[in-house]
Amino acid sequence: METINQLRRVESLHRGMPVSDGAGVKLQRVLTQNLQQRLDPFLMLDEFGSDQPGDYIAGFPSHPHRGFETVTYMLDGRMRHRDNAGNEGVLGPGDVQWMTAGRGVVHSEMPEQEEGRMRGFQLWVNLPAREKMCDPQYRGIQNSEIPRLSPAPGVMISLIAGEYDGQQGAIRGISTRPLYLDIQLAAGATLHVPLPETHHAFAYVYEGQVTMDETARAVSKGTLAVLTNGRDQQGVRLQAEAESRLLLIAGQPLHEPIAQWGPFVMNRREELEQAFEDYHQGRF
Ligand code: FE
Repeated sequence: METINQLRRVESLHRGMPVSDGAGVKLQRVLTQNLQQRLDPFLMLDEFGSDQPGDYIAGFPSHPHRGFETVTYMLDGRMRHRDNAGNEGVLGPGDVQWMTAGRGVVHSEMPEQEEGRMRGFQLWVNLPAREKMCDPQYRGIQNSEIPRLSPAPGVMISLIAGEYDGQQGAIRGISTRPLYLDIQLAAGATLHVPLPETHHAFAYVYEGQVTMDETARAVSKGTLAVLTNGRDQQGVRLQAEAESRLLLIAGQPLHEPIAQWGPFVMNRREELEQAFEDYHQGRF
């Protein structure tokens, strides 16, 4: 059993920013570019959620990525993925797609429904310099393949990536050693989550209200909390003020320069120019 010496605290709180992306999909950009250094290796987190087809129906037609990984986690609705490596799959409720763009992928992400609710998340995880030009890889994980743990009364954890209490998540073998948990807490439930001391970590509360730091105010729905990194600060303690759901995400920082131009994330400007040229020459 792991002991938690010191708890992480809430360092800062961030509300999502409404944006429109793809062919006109309405999103909340929760992790924005100004947090990329602080939350290295994470580059972006978008939340999408709407009952209005007009907010999502246009989808994300054919577009490229290079130099990082995109992780899509669906809560409600269905989305079809197709890419130029010949991968195709439909993501349904609770399914996860972990796509390593590496040297280049051109794909589309389109709703497989004309009405009803569409809800989920897309996280961008950076790749270390030595892996930015690796072969693209696609992993589709079904809801039923994601380990579920209930370590305490009123607590349910979906273990998407990383390790919890000796159990391995559905996604393994990623060099930034990410932890990606979807946690459901009944009102009043508490949970300790151990985190590797040097990992950057954040929580995004998407339902309810959760206290993560006795000295800070509760983190409410639609808020991202950056957690502190301090000596001997290993874990975080969560306490639900109401029935709540949150993502708890952590990863080992790369400490490398970040150069981004839209869907390309490299280390240097010249590599972005190369990416742009390669894409337009059809070399992805
Ligand atoms: Fe994409």
